[in-house]
Amino acid sequence: MNGFMHQKILIFTDVDGSLLDHHSYSYSAAEPLLEDLRTADVPVIPVTSKTRAELQVLRTELQNRHPFIVENGAAVFIPKACFPELVGNADTVDDLFCYAFSEPRAYWQALLKELETEFEHLFTTFEKAGVKGIMEMTGLSRAAAERANQRDFSEPVSWLGDEKSKQAFIAAVEARGATVLQGGRFLHITGGCDKGKAVQWLCQQYQDHYAGLDLLTLAAGDSHNDIAMLEVVDKPIIIRSPIQTIPTLKHRDVYITNKYGPEGWVEAVSKLIAPTISCPPSNNSLLGND
Ligand SMILES: [Mg+2]
Repeated sequence: MNGFMHQKILIFTDVDGSLLDHHSYSYSAAEPLLEDLRTADVPVIPVTSKTRAELQVLRTELQNRHPFIVENGAAVFIPKACFPELVGNADTVDDLFCYAFSEPRAYWQALLKELETEFEHLFTTFEKAGVKGIMEMTGLSRAAAERANQRDFSEPVSWLGDEKSKQAFIAAVEARGATVLQGGRFLHITGGCDKGKAVQWLCQQYQDHYAGLDLLTLAAGDSHNDIAMLEVVDKPIIIRSPIQTIPTLKHRDVYITNKYGPEGWVEAVSKLIAPTISCPPSNNSLLGND
């Protein structure tokens, strides 16, 4: 027992390029540490641009039973076993509570239809492209394209025109109340959400649930769309990326990893939580590597 016994650690993490290697999508470098965190009951909470269906594959592999945040913060899903009840107007989906920060996908699809004439031939959407089109645009397998297309809160747009018309399109979409998130390949049309708002909301749920415990929040991310999440936690971690420049944060306590992807994830998480984990379950990677 030590001075940290009243502390509850939460680790929020981006998935692609952070917990998963940018090129190989492997998390093998993080496996021993993830195992230790499971044993120590430290939640690792994925925060991703992926859909629930896409993330489900990884959650199953990792035996991750903790909450998760999808579609760039559009919704928080919480396994019912985590919290007995939620405040606010959470929906129920299967065995999960779902708290949404965005209108449903159909709302954004209808909005995009209104712009089809004005921006004719300049964009296509996942809805219009269909699974076959998504496979062509992304190189995903059929099963993976189907999962990518199982969206609840956002519609990806592939821009076919020039930069100037794209800016006009973004302005028109935003004027209709949507938020446009620029991903690597697509524009994501969604509600007024970001990873930071979703993380803050979920932290509040933990705070309410674990009254009397101090939360220590970590978040790891590698790119621009992680900034909002990194700004709202105690210990932001920027995972060095082979393809992105290091995002700039206002936060004064930022850890920038030396290693890339999951190796950087292990480097930072082990270092930041080592002083706070009081009883390591085994002689493992949480402690003693420095
Ligand atoms: Mg990433």
